[in-house]
Amino acid sequence: MSAERRAELAANLAEVHARIATAERLGGRVPGSVRLVVVTKTWPASDVRLLAGLGVTDVAENRDQEARPKHEECADLGLRWHFIGQLQRNKARHVVSYADVVESVDRPELATALDRAAAELGRRVDVLLQVDLAEPPQPHRGGAVPADLAALAEVVVGRCPALRLAGLMAVAPLEEDPRAAFARLAEAAAAFRREHPGATVVSAGMSQDLEEAVESGATHVRVGTAVLGGRPALG
Ligand SMILES: *Cc1c(COP(=O)(O)O)cnc(C)c1O
Repeated sequence: MSAERRAELAANLAEVHARIATAERLGGRVPGSVRLVVVTKTWPASDVRLLAGLGVTDVAENRDQEARPKHEECADLGLRWHFIGQLQRNKARHVVSYADVVESVDRPELATALDRAAAELGRRVDVLLQVDLAEPPQPHRGGAVPADLAALAEVVVGRCPALRLAGLMAVAPLEEDPRAAFARLAEAAAAFRREHPGATVVSAGMSQDLEEAVESGATHVRVGTAVLGGRPALG
């Protein structure tokens, strides 16, 4: 069973790496420069373990209740854990206890809560500011509007010494061609890097639209379904 699952994951990973490589070539990107983050939400710790054995270095989760025990079971694997879900301030302490990167920072109160929690644990956590690319904005989906990014970055850089501003994250809106949305993200990211040259990460692209994201400059893609298979309806 586990050997079968391992073979399935290996084949899926090979296919995703091939898709990334093709997109790098078409987009004029440096071969091998785009990093794969595998989104393991809804899948068991046993899959995370198989993925680590297959060379995966980065995994992502979107719910604290699920991520915390899974991380605990997999703490020996040396993976980098990304948190990519909407996050309430009262979960900050939990999340910084296992997350190496929080990709969904979208408001000042969340940044300062994460900073306080990380400082108390003696940790330094990378953060990405999540950008809402929808026009008009869709606040319930998470993300700061592009016009608010500069002020949010100032809070992280100026008031959050336990956080490191690493870049931007976005999800393409459902109702639009991802190319157009990712072009706006590329523009926002270029402006952002002029102010914060160290914040080079652009996390964008999922199973359905990773090619468009890579061609628009994503440095990290977050892929779940194409590696692990379809998720059950709720998760
Ligand atoms: C679930 C999720 C992904 C992965 O989506 P797939 O379509 O399964 O590849 C990427 N990013 C975020 C924020 C997610 O919640």
